[in-house]
Amino acid sequence: MGSMELTGGLTGLKGVGPSVAALFKGIGISTIAELLDYFPRTYNDYSEIQTISKIKPGMVTVEVEIKQSTGRYVRRGMHITEAVASDATGSVRLLWFNQPYRAASIKTGQKYFVTGKLELKAQRFSITNPSMEQSSDFPLHTARIVPVYRESKGITSTLLRRVLYQVIKSAYLLPEPLPEEIRRKYKLLTYGAAISELHFPTSRESFAAARRTIGFIEVFELMLAASLNKAQNQSEPAPSIPFKEKLAQKFVKSLPFTLTNAQRVAAWQIYQDIVFPVPMNRLLEGDVGSGKTVVAGMAGLMAMEAGYQVALMAPTELLARQHAETLTDLFKATGHDEVVSLLVGSLKPAQKKIAQERIASGHIKFIVGTQALLQEKVVMQNLGLLIVDEQHRFGVDQRKKLLKSSGYMPHVLSMTATPIPRSLALTLYGELDISLLDVMPMGRKPIITEIVSPNSREPLYKKIDDEITQGRQVYIVCPVIKEGSGLKAPSAEQTYEKLRKTTFKHRQLRLLHGKMKDDEKSAVMEEFAAGKIDILVATTVIEVGISVANASVMVIEGADRFGLAQMHQLRGRVGRSTDQGYCFIVPSDSKAPSPRLRALSQSTDGFKLAELDLELRGPGAIYGTLQHGELDLRIAKLSDAKLLAESRKAVNDFIKAKIKLSDYPELKRRVRAAQAVVTLN
Ligand code: ADP
Ligand code: MG
Repeated sequence: MGSMELTGGLTGLKGVGPSVAALFKGIGISTIAELLDYFPRTYNDYSEIQTISKIKPGMVTVEVEIKQSTGRYVRRGMHITEAVASDATGSVRLLWFNQPYRAASIKTGQKYFVTGKLELKAQRFSITNPSMEQSSDFPLHTARIVPVYRESKGITSTLLRRVLYQVIKSAYLLPEPLPEEIRRKYKLLTYGAAISELHFPTSRESFAAARRTIGFIEVFELMLAASLNKAQNQSEPAPSIPFKEKLAQKFVKSLPFTLTNAQRVAAWQIYQDIVFPVPMNRLLEGDVGSGKTVVAGMAGLMAMEAGYQVALMAPTELLARQHAETLTDLFKATGHDEVVSLLVGSLKPAQKKIAQERIASGHIKFIVGTQALLQEKVVMQNLGLLIVDEQHRFGVDQRKKLLKSSGYMPHVLSMTATPIPRSLALTLYGELDISLLDVMPMGRKPIITEIVSPNSREPLYKKIDDEITQGRQVYIVCPVIKEGSGLKAPSAEQTYEKLRKTTFKHRQLRLLHGKMKDDEKSAVMEEFAAGKIDILVATTVIEVGISVANASVMVIEGADRFGLAQMHQLRGRVGRSTDQGYCFIVPSDSKAPSPRLRALSQSTDGFKLAELDLELRGPGAIYGTLQHGELDLRIAKLSDAKLLAESRKAVNDFIKAKIKLSDYPELKRRVRAAQAVVTLN
């Protein structure tokens, strides 16, 4: 066991020559610190040493002496090493296949730990292909809780254990992220001890303490980052936007439908926020079709009435155009319909110039655009409210860019259809206010979801054809654009080519994916929206990009490759009118469908599905759909309510005690990185 400088390379270590060092580099490990940061994937608990008289078939660990060992070649060049191992209670046969070096390495009179599978071989119980090492106080591969690492070419768990063993003492040189008083109060290990225990657990208890420590640090950092973000956000003034009851009533009366209760509550929560001169930071969360736009409109209306400008950022041009049209309609009865303007990248320079001038002069009150809003030379007179639709990567810096002149921060309303599990929301966005649209507008039928075996598509294709005959439109979503890259998944290109030449040669098909140019994509989407395309074969680019009420069928190919929340969102693309919507889930093979896919076919509750995804695939899966950068929770489980509660308490302690982040450089570094991740706007 050794300690070495953390920044040192690996080539000085036993078993690491230049070629192995290169392999390590390939998986991102060049220094000892990076090696220590390579956490085990799982563990095998072989810590219990049994006596031979008591062992039963299955994995066993014994401490033995080897009486005799022989190696021989049997038929077809297979080599067998056979040895007899004994302890005070009895003896057992060890067998290794094709490990001819074994016999020579065994010393008689020496004690060994042996871990392997006891099973019946040629009518005798034998331990086959066991791991074996000389007995010691610190075994690596046997007689302990054995770490198992993610392996890659040339880098096995055995090698990792051997190499880590040589540097494990260096773990104690790692900088401590937690302030001492927090570490003590919550009875946590030092970071060094925790990392050391994580690689080489010395007991089940200290192993559990190590995992708790590292999980605690992970969650603490995220929560602290979230609360610093909030403090930072609230340190600047925002406009006070008064609530005008008459105007709100007039607007609501003019709608062609009655608001759902959830919409009413959400609007009311927003109105209460924006009256205060503190920047609102609210997330409006609701399934596709739950009616977020009208709530955003109600917020925007009040801001305009108070004399402020409003900007709405949409993820695509098509969506921006749809929003601009919808909002102009919505505002007709209020006298604010003349003041909505579109600003997107594809406008002609002359049009753009006019829009920019009218925005700068303050004539335009409601600006709808894409991210291009930030790039264009838009000078907003007095932005009071910023609405961000499905576009989470929008940092504080970007927000500031929109308000150079006004001297205050706008209120921000973010809208998303991604169901964020409560536990995740509490950790990451604990400081964020959330409004939920958990009721769908009346008259919408729940979508019928079915799992279809990839080998019996006839009924599926018949159904698609029937729907098209009735004038409906269909999406087919595939996990990849092109075949290849070793993944066995249906590609959009191949599916498109095949279907348009065979089953659906009498129908209009188009292909849509992320590698296409923006104007090509917009053209296809617009054709689809105009009803000129029967079947759109696409990748997940359609996830946030499109809203076509006439589409009634969603087919998800290679469904096992998608997250549940993501598929739930895709499913929400159909059944947007009063027609029945269908979602067909096609797994990549005809094996029995996984519990995940069955859950999707049985539940339309996005939150339930997201919780399940979180449990089965971790927060990264959900974070992926939030397009929100990497979330690295390697140890903490968000289902661990106690851990979340303790970490939250520790964050409060930290803030109350006015601990200075700058006194803890390691914590500061980590929290700064986390701040970029946990910001929703
Ligand atoms: P999303 O939450 O996906 O953004 P939209 O705001 O686009 O949903 O609304 C979807 C459709 O539902 C729109 O056509 C909208 O006019 C309609 N809608 C919104 N609220 C209601 C309601 N309370 N009752 C009936 N239809 C509604
Ligand atoms: Mg929407």
